[in-house]
Amino acid sequence: MKYETVIGLEVHVELATDSKIFCSCSAHSYGAEPNTHVCPACSGMPGMLPVVNKKVVDYGMKAGMMLNCDINRVTTFDKKSYYYPDLPCAYQTTQWFAPVAVNGLVEIETSKGKKNIRIKQIHMEEDAGKLVHDIREDMTHVDFNRTSVPLIEIVSQPDLSSAEEVEAYLERIKTLLRYARVAECEMAHGTMRCDVNLSVRPEGSDKLGVRAEMKNMNSIEAIKRAIEYETARHIDAIERGTEVLKQETRRWDDIKGKSYAMRTKETAGDYRYFPDPNVMPVVIDDNWFNEVKSTLPELPEVKRERYKTEFNLSDYDAEQLTKSIALCDCFEGAYEVCKSAKDSANWMISEVMSILNVRKMTYDMLSVDGKALGSLIKLVMDGKVGRTNAKKILEAMFEDGTIEPLKYAEENGYVMSNDTGLIEQVVKKAVEANPKAVADYKSGKEKAILAIFGSCMKELKGNCDPAVLKQILTDYVDKL
Ligand code: ZN
Ligand code: MN
Repeated sequence: MKYETVIGLEVHVELATDSKIFCSCSAHSYGAEPNTHVCPACSGMPGMLPVVNKKVVDYGMKAGMMLNCDINRVTTFDKKSYYYPDLPCAYQTTQWFAPVAVNGLVEIETSKGKKNIRIKQIHMEEDAGKLVHDIREDMTHVDFNRTSVPLIEIVSQPDLSSAEEVEAYLERIKTLLRYARVAECEMAHGTMRCDVNLSVRPEGSDKLGVRAEMKNMNSIEAIKRAIEYETARHIDAIERGTEVLKQETRRWDDIKGKSYAMRTKETAGDYRYFPDPNVMPVVIDDNWFNEVKSTLPELPEVKRERYKTEFNLSDYDAEQLTKSIALCDCFEGAYEVCKSAKDSANWMISEVMSILNVRKMTYDMLSVDGKALGSLIKLVMDGKVGRTNAKKILEAMFEDGTIEPLKYAEENGYVMSNDTGLIEQVVKKAVEANPKAVADYKSGKEKAILAIFGSCMKELKGNCDPAVLKQILTDYVDKL
C-alpha cells in the first residue's frame, strides 16, 4: 500500500521588540549575566500586574497580515497552566479563546509546483526562562532573562506532506516576517523554533492517523531527518505491527538519528486554559488596524518586478537581490549614493554575496551599510580607488561597520595616483631591473612586458589606472 505523510507545524517566532511582552525589561539578553533582565512582573512575584506591550500587538497583527490572516479586532490573553521550574507563575500567558490572527494562507513553491498551506491561527504569548544544567556542580540553575520575551506561535493546518514542503514553508515565513521587520526567524539563534506534528495514512484516505509531536526542533536538517525517520516508523507500525502507535510527544535525538517517547500527549484540558483576569482585552479599532496595515512592506515578488522595471536589472539579478531584505537594503542604500543600479547590483552579486558565501554567512547576516557601499562604488566609478583595493576595503567593512571608505582608502594608501611623474619613475626602475623581459619584448614576445607591468603595479600598490600604466610602460620601452 502507498502512504502519505500528514504534517502540521507550530512555529514559535521571537518578536524583535525592544522590551518584553508584559513589562519594560529588555527583551535582548543574549550573552548577559543570568537574571539581570528581570523585574517582579516577569519573574512572577505575587501581586505583580502585567501590562501589554503595544508593539507586540502591532507586530502580531503585522505578522497576521503578512500571512493573509483575518485579524481579531478584540483579542484576549489566557492562562495556560503547567508546572515547570522555568515558568515562575506556573502558567504561561498566551492566547487561546481569541488569538490575534486566524484563517491565514501561505503559498509555497516546491519542485512539484505551488501549494497553499492554511494557517489556523497566530497567537501572542510569552517565552519561558531557561534551565542551565551544571554537570560539575550536579545542579540545575534557572535563568529568567528570557521569561516574557514576546513570541508569536504560528499554527498551520495539517496541509504539509513532505520535508521539502516543510522547508519551503519555513523559508517563506522567514522571508515574509523579515521583510515586515517583525522578527529575525533564525533557527540557529533560537529566534525560530518548530514543533512538528506528524501522522501517516494510506494515500487518498481522508482520515488522520495517530499523531506524534516532536517539540522544539531547531534546525531544518534535523527536521528533515526527523520527518523521514518518523514516517518510516509509522509505516512499519501500520504494516508490520512493530509497535502500537500512541498519540504522544517525542524527543528527536539528532545525534542518534532516532526519536524517543517523552510523554503521552497532553490535551487542551490538561492546561486548564482560562482568561487571564489581569490582562484587559485588547480592542483594535479601525485607526490602529489601518496604521499597522500602512506599514506593510512591498512583498518580495513585487520588489523583484520593480527592480526589473525601475532599475533595468536582469531576471537573475533581481531574483538574487530580493532573496533577503538585508540584501535589498544594502543594494538600495548603495544605489542612493552612487546612482548606478547596474554597478550596485554587480557589486552586490559578485562581491558582497561571494564574501558572504566564503565566510559561510547567510544573506540575512549582512551588516554592511548600503550607503557606505555606495560611496565605495563611487570611488571606483570616479577612478579614485582601483577595483582590487576596493575589494580589500569591502572586506574590511565586513569586519568594522564604522569604516568610511574614502577615509580608510587614504589611511591605507589605497588612493589611485594620477601622478604620471611617479609612474614614470616606477616604470624606469622596473625596466632596468628586468633587462631579459625587455629584450624578449623587443624580439617580438609581446607578453614578456606583462611581467614588468605586474611589478610596476605591485610597486604602486595597485593605485594606478591599468590603462594609464600600460600606456606609459609601452611608450617607454618602445623608445629604448
Ligand atoms: Zn520584567
Ligand atoms: Mn506556544
